[in-house]
Amino acid sequence: MAKANPPLTDVLISGAGLNGLAAALLLAEAGARVIVIDPATRARLEHPDYDWRTTAIAQGAMRILDRIGAWDSEAWASGAITDIRIIDGNGPLFLHYDGGELGEGDLGCIVPNAALRRRMFDAVMAAPNIKLRFETGLEALSLSANAAIATLSNGDAVRARLAIGADGRNSPTRKLAGIGERSFDYGQISIVCTAAHAEPHRGVAHERFLPSGPFAILPLPDTNDGAASPHRSSIVWTERADLADRLLALEKAEFDCELAARFGDHYGAVETIGPIGSFPLKLVAATAMTSQRLALVGDAARSIHPIAGQGFNLGLRDSAELARRVADRLALGLDPGAPDVLSGYTAARLSDVASLVAATDSLNRLFSNHVPPLRLMRMLGLGAVQATPPLKRLFMRHAMGLAGPARHLAGDKPV
Ligand SMILES: Cc1cc2nc3c(=O)[nH]c(=O)nc-3n(C[C@H](O)[C@H](O)[C@H](O)COP(=O)(O)OP(=O)(O)OC[C@H]3O[C@@H](n4cnc5c(N)ncnc54)[C@H](O)[C@@H]3O)c2cc1C
Repeated sequence: MAKANPPLTDVLISGAGLNGLAAALLLAEAGARVIVIDPATRARLEHPDYDWRTTAIAQGAMRILDRIGAWDSEAWASGAITDIRIIDGNGPLFLHYDGGELGEGDLGCIVPNAALRRRMFDAVMAAPNIKLRFETGLEALSLSANAAIATLSNGDAVRARLAIGADGRNSPTRKLAGIGERSFDYGQISIVCTAAHAEPHRGVAHERFLPSGPFAILPLPDTNDGAASPHRSSIVWTERADLADRLLALEKAEFDCELAARFGDHYGAVETIGPIGSFPLKLVAATAMTSQRLALVGDAARSIHPIAGQGFNLGLRDSAELARRVADRLALGLDPGAPDVLSGYTAARLSDVASLVAATDSLNRLFSNHVPPLRLMRMLGLGAVQATPPLKRLFMRHAMGLAGPARHLAGDKPV
């Protein structure tokens, strides 16, 4: 049974994943007193080695993370993406983004998830106005005009002027608040692994569109872990679900042959190193980003196809926008969870979110097939963008999170 008069905080965040931790740091920077809750143990959050995946962080997101002390330029410099090559299957045409063309710094960076989580965890633990409560999940939520009251799994309650749901694709916050969702199963699985290859990648990321899904080769720092070569790339390989299941059941040597067939001859001989993971892909979008005293951020608000490596980048912009509005309120001594903060947040995020959900969804539909008229359209499209420098530069700025409706969130200092 919850205590009668629970303590009042400015912001309660449910979820200490990438988005919850980033939201906590951004809201704390905005001047809010923040409580973050997560069912995970302290050991899991402090030593997140279980998450061996990597995340592509675009230049715009790098700037936001740098501002809140969550970016380690020195440690992560060797994962910098200096060029991106987008290829349609085995076709002759490709689109080439050269980071040097814009003078805005690297296009982005591939960061190990464990290192990013650890960096944010340390920053959260060091922030005087953030309290992270381990082994504590959200169990019930009551939203009223005055406050959000959360009942936690240990029976405690917390009152907050603003509650934030950052608890992932199956968000308990979203469900407890009665916010609906729309979902679409892509019938695809992303196979994620690390490849060792004979030649260095020189900071080039490849996105190869194959008929059953995109195949991304993302540059990682060199590693000496006993493999024949130190050169590494992270692979995000999307296949139809039935085919992915068969691939995942193969012995290493056979799996490596399948990998090599899709990898192409970019960097000589290639083999997998370490674990191979699989992620069933589903578009899940909340029918609203807010309710009374509540905002959703990150995958709790929508989880998109990884085709463009933008899910976390998009979620980070949610939290940055919300924090900007909360900062304005708190600076004037006003209520950070007032209805106009939340309606302003929804309105500001609408176009960025809708365009990225639509872009990732339609890119996947357009490229993941053999249909001849669509192949022709794709080739013409890629060729046209490549041949039109101003259009190409605009596309590059979008991919870097430096154009579009949320460009103000990134600031203008390259990392
Ligand atoms: C194959 C693949 C590749 C990707 N690559 C990229 C990329 O390159 N770049 C990019 O930007 N994005 C990428 N993404 C997307 C990115 O991984 C996600 O958008 C991001 O991890 C979502 O983080 P989150 O914090 O919103 O949710 P989650 O990581 O799901 O975290 C949710 C948190 O909520 C907690 N929680 C659960 N229940 C409760 C409860 N009852 N109370 C409190 N807390 C609770 C959980 O313990 C967890 O810590 C990729 C996704 C996939 C599948």
